[in-house]
Amino acid sequence: MKFYVLAQPTFNAGEFLRFLADVGESWNRTPGTKSPQELVEVAGRLCYMSFGSRQSPKDNGTYVKNLISMGHESVLEHISWTFLVTGISRAFSHQLVRHRVGVAFSQLSQQYHDETAATAVEPVELAAFPQLREQWKHSLDAAKLVYCKLLEELDKEKNLLPLQRREQLRAIRSIARSVLPNSTETKIVFTANARAIRHILEVRGNIPGDSEMRLFSVNLFQQVVRDAPELFGDFYERALDDGLPILEKQRFDEQASTS
Ligand SMILES: Cc1cc2nc3c(=O)[nH]c(=O)nc-3n(C[C@H](O)[C@H](O)[C@H](O)COP(=O)(O)OP(=O)(O)OC[C@H]3O[C@@H](n4cnc5c(N)ncnc54)[C@H](O)[C@@H]3O)c2cc1C
Repeated sequence: MKFYVLAQPTFNAGEFLRFLADVGESWNRTPGTKSPQELVEVAGRLCYMSFGSRQSPKDNGTYVKNLISMGHESVLEHISWTFLVTGISRAFSHQLVRHRVGVAFSQLSQQYHDETAATAVEPVELAAFPQLREQWKHSLDAAKLVYCKLLEELDKEKNLLPLQRREQLRAIRSIARSVLPNSTETKIVFTANARAIRHILEVRGNIPGDSEMRLFSVNLFQQVVRDAPELFGDFYERALDDGLPILEKQRFDEQASTS
């Protein structure tokens, strides 16, 4: 599994300071704050115009954690990331695209793209079972063989599919792809805002029996926590007995009481 960060949130602080000057307000910024977290902070502060004398002494990290603790999470929707993720299985991507809110997906098509050269994503657990792994590989080879045969043979049956070439290809690939396994590798461009990412990490990051989802969640977490540490600071990684990471989540108030 590989993550490419195609876009990260940015905050045009100059424009915000221009707004503050227009309304005769000032803002006490927390030194060293990452810009995505500043954007979340100013979106929250704007709701109450808590600038100047009305600004509380909370630093940025405490402020954004407090927003989350009190459920004022729409402000997290102002920052989003776009990732290109490769080396994931179709089975996994089917789970991922079930998420509907605050996300957008663009996935490699098996209708427009010839999958003859497609690889498979091997479940990491199979490495411990060499014989089963061989059978698994064998079934992939068999499926690929039929896939290629269907493409080739159906392409000769133009009268059976009296369609324009583009639609013929779509039809042929649709038929052929039906034999491809769930493990077929796919690529997806995935955009999500911070609120949606927190939701995905929470419901998907902590499922011990789903190693591919765990790996995805941990990768996702590692990317976003770099840009917005406090926004995702209630999540943390730990290794399970299988050696793979899993995400845990603490409540911010628990975190505060232990640190
Ligand atoms: C452990 C686990 C097992 C699962 N097993 C299955 C399964 O066997 N079969 C299966 O089909 N799916 C299964 N799912 C998928 C699950 O049902 C969700 O479709 C998926 O996790 C997306 O979650 P979501 O709807 O919360 O996310 P999103 O679609 O991103 O929604 C985010 C949040 O917005 C709100 N929301 C979104 N849409 C609506 C709406 N229409 N009405 C009201 N509120 C809304 C909800 O609060 C929701 O949590 C499973 C998920 C998990 C984590």
